[in-house]
This record gives sequence, structure tokens and C-alpha cells, in this order.
Amino acid sequence: MNYRHTKAMWPIPLAEFQRRRGQYKHREDVFLIVWSVSVFLVLSSYGPLTAKMEGAREEEGWVEMLNSLGLIGLIIGCAAWLVISTRSRLKAHDLQCPKCEHLLNTHLAAEAVATGRCGKCEALLVNDHPSNE
Ligand SMILES: [Zn+2]
Repeated sequence: MNYRHTKAMWPIPLAEFQRRRGQYKHREDVFLIVWSVSVFLVLSSYGPLTAKMEGAREEEGWVEMLNSLGLIGLIIGCAAWLVISTRSRLKAHDLQCPKCEHLLNTHLAAEAVATGRCGKCEALLVNDHPSNE
């Protein structure tokens, strides 16, 4: 079963939690490849940067500053794209604590698998965890 865009009925069985996490991880891996290639293409095609590397003549001060701002904007934009899409992917797989609403990212998800509980607020996330029996 694909858990994307389904709500979890917390607390859920460990097997479901791991399948949700696995499906999220798979989409994350695909996204990271697309993201890395896109960032590389965008940055490598940024005119002012490539001109600088090829040792083009010095630009005037204000042009130089605009070019730097453009580059900073691109980098911030790429970082924001990564953060926002990671959040939306975690939400799509409902990997979010029902009590404190923390996203169950890498270390919180690992903690939930290890203990069956949210690492932030201790809410029960896994209803058939061996440590609760
Ligand atoms: Zn929590």
C-alpha cells in the first residue's frame, strides 16, 4: 500500500511506520538527485559567475554588487526549495507527531522506531512496539 497523502491513525503499528518512512525516504532520494542536478545546472549557467571564472574584465562596482546579490538569491532560493519540499514530503506521508506536530525527520523517526515514542513530547506513536509490551 502507498501511504502518500494518507492520514495515519496514531498510534500506528511499527510495520506501517516503517513503510511510511521507507516510502518517504525513497521519494527523498529521487528528489535529492533532481535537486542536486538542478542546483548544479542553475549555478553553472549563472552568467556573472562563469564570466568571473573565465577571468572576464572587471565590472563596475554596482554591477558587481548586483551580480553578488543575484548569486546569493539563487543560493537562498535553492536552500529554501530543499527545506520547503522536505517539509511537504514529510507531511504527505504524515510523518508528523500528532501531539506536538514536530516533523518526524531523520533522527526523530529513528527514535520513534527505537522507542515507539516521539523524541520531543514522548507521545505514543507506535502501538505495537516491543518496549511497550
Ligand atoms: Zn511529539
